[in-house]
Order: sequence, then structure tokens, then C-alpha cells
Amino acid sequence: MSKQKAIYQQKVTNQAKKRILNGNPLIQPADCIDLKLMNQWVDFVDEKNNWLAQGYLGKQNKGVGWILSLTKCEFDQAFFTQKFQKAKQKRSAFFSQDLTTAFRLVNGEGDGLGGITIDYYQGYAVISWYNETIYQVKELILKAFLTVYPDTLGIYEKNRFETTLPETQHIYGKAAPEPLIIKENGIQYATYLNEGWMTGIFLDQKEVRNYLASGFASGKKVLNMFSYTGAFSIASAMGGALSTTSVDLAKRSLPKTKEQFSINGIDPASQKIHVIDTFDYFHYAQKKGLTFDLIILDPPSFARNGKKVFSVAKNYGQLIADSLPILSKKGWIVASTNAANVSVKRFKQMIEQELKGKVQSYQLVQTFQLPIDFTVLPTFEQGNYLKVFIYQIVR
Ligand code: SAH
Repeated sequence: MSKQKAIYQQKVTNQAKKRILNGNPLIQPADCIDLKLMNQWVDFVDEKNNWLAQGYLGKQNKGVGWILSLTKCEFDQAFFTQKFQKAKQKRSAFFSQDLTTAFRLVNGEGDGLGGITIDYYQGYAVISWYNETIYQVKELILKAFLTVYPDTLGIYEKNRFETTLPETQHIYGKAAPEPLIIKENGIQYATYLNEGWMTGIFLDQKEVRNYLASGFASGKKVLNMFSYTGAFSIASAMGGALSTTSVDLAKRSLPKTKEQFSINGIDPASQKIHVIDTFDYFHYAQKKGLTFDLIILDPPSFARNGKKVFSVAKNYGQLIADSLPILSKKGWIVASTNAANVSVKRFKQMIEQELKGKVQSYQLVQTFQLPIDFTVLPTFEQGNYLKVFIYQIVR
């Protein structure tokens, strides 16, 4: 296929028209009048059949399609090449950094390409496809990508939509070493590009890790809840933390966290790593009278453990409440979420509601959102999903 023509028409409501013209690129089912063409490249038209925009319909966990252009165009190789070139220019400073060798190259709608993200891992690329329609033009996109990044050593894909395809597979060039040890601000992290949807590190948290590593965690007893591969613990230990305790439910987190410490020259036996439910750990720590100076709370947006369901939108406050009894007299909480359905304002409210009247004083001392390689559109708040607030608390 050399190009993908927009031939079908999808009519949208007047409300959706306003949003589209204001620069919101996401199409929801309720925006569409008579939605029946799925997995199609389409011209979007208004209720009076006036041409509005071009893009595609494709079911994904958020929305049913994306606007890719507000002017008439062809979705050919040149279209994608141009998007990749523009995205590359924005990140030119990242390519010359020796101390950071992994970052985002293309951030979906933030770079005008809703439905895919592409990350750079030290010479290798990881493409995540979020719906079947964009996956259908994979060959076109790969050619365009390799035109802009001809030195790419190898490419992996993550298929993040309903499909019989594997979650991950190697699709071009050389296979990456396992682990592929990348650097971020001089700290090493072990990544595995061919293990499910995740690679071992969430690249969007780099500024938080750097903050921990460059002084904030120094001299503190750090508790890292929902620790995954322990990245926040490694950054803290490298930054001179007095101790780190990593807590995650998944069994894989134990060997993975040990590995991360080892490759940075820290004896894993000198750090605590627990495979246990966060809420059980809270009880255990309280019973034992343990206290921590810095508690990091970065849960998944939604999780199930047996019958228990946790969602950030409903239950984040509980994490704050449970942290207070094991926080030092003067301590810090790093409250973090990637839940797109929780706004900055709402997230703050959920946290501060638990602090008001229950502690002597609290102060928001630091805020992080997405780093600049995770480009966001000012017209699409939902895309700016990461919220990290650091509170200093006197109990
Ligand atoms: N903070 C991590 C990323 C967290 S990903 C980082 O920056 O790298 C979410 C993690 O939460 C997963 O590893 C998952 O296993 C873990 N998890 C989910 N529910 C949990 C629970 N109830 N208790 C402990 N860990 C949980």
C-alpha cells in the first residue's frame, strides 16, 4: 500500500465540530452521527456535510478515532515522514546527551499522530499501536520512520489493542540485548524490549527520578509503593538515601529490582524489597512501628487483587490516609498518577482532603508533569495525563 486515502465520510455533531476546530483531536462515540464505519480512514464532516477534518476511526481504550489533519491531505509516506521529522526537530537536544540514552520520539496526538507512540532505547525503537486502523498502515509508517531514522538498529512493536497478535514482537533489524542497559542522567536501568507491553522503565517519570537522585532523597528513609522494577528506589539510593524499601505485588518485581541495584553497583541485599500488596504492607509497617521520611505512591490507574479493586479516581485518598501513620514526624509524600480521567485539580483535592485537619501542616513543595519529549497539545488536557505532587508534611 503506498498511501491511505480518506474516502469515507463521518458526520459529527455540532458540539464535536466546535471541539475539533478548537484543536481537540480525539473522537468519541457520542461525537459521531450514525457511527458505523470502524477501522476506516475518513473525512469528518459537519451536520450540513461541510468538510471539517481528516483522520481515522479505530476503536481503542480511549475514544474511537483521531483527527490527523485540519487541512486536506493524503495519508501517504510523505505525510508520516514529515510528522516524524518535525517530532525529531523538537527533540534535537536529546540526541546529543551521553548521560540519557532513552526517551520518547513520537508522542501520539502531541506530535499530530494520535494512536501511536515511539520510544528510543539506545539505538532501538519501540512502537506502540493503540488501535487496528493505524496498525493497518504499519508498512507505510515503518518506511517513513526509517527514512527519518536510518540508523535504527532494531524495532519492536507493542500491540495495545484488541487483537490476536502478540503483545510484543521484534519487527525489524537486530534483536536488542536482554537486558538492554540504558542510561538516564547517568543512572543505569535494565530494559527488556520484548517482554509484554512494558519495558522495565516508564520514561515519562525521568524528571522525578532525577529529582530523587540529585539531592531530594539524600539522607532519607524511602518507601517506594507500587515499585514495579524499583526505578524510584534505584534513583533514591543513587542519590544517597539512607535506606530504600520497595513494595510490589508482582513476583517479577523482586529479581528485576535486584538487577537494577546490581547494575549500578549497589548490593541488593543492602536494600529492602517486598513482594506484597501495598495495603497489607501498610498494616505490617504500622504494626512493626516502622517509619519513613519519604513515601512514594505511584499506583496503576486501575488494579485488581483478588476481589479487591483499586482505582485512582476513587481510592487514591486511601493511600494518603494509610501513609500518615508510618510517615516521620516531618516527612514527604510523592503523590503520583497517570490517570487521564483525574484532573490536576481533582488529584490535589483528593490528597489534601486526607491531610486537612489530620496533620499539623502540609505544603506542596514540588510539581512535575510530562517531560518535554512527551509533547502535549495545549488544546487536549486529557493528553497531559501525568501528575506528580510532592508534599512536605508535619504530623
Ligand atoms: N512506580 C513504578 C510504576 C508502577 S506500575 C515506576 O515508576 O516504575 C504499577 C505497579 O503496581 C505494577 O508493578 C503492579 O504489579 C503494582 N501493583 C498493582 N496493584 C498493587 C497492589 N495492590 N499492591 C502492590 N503493588 C501493586
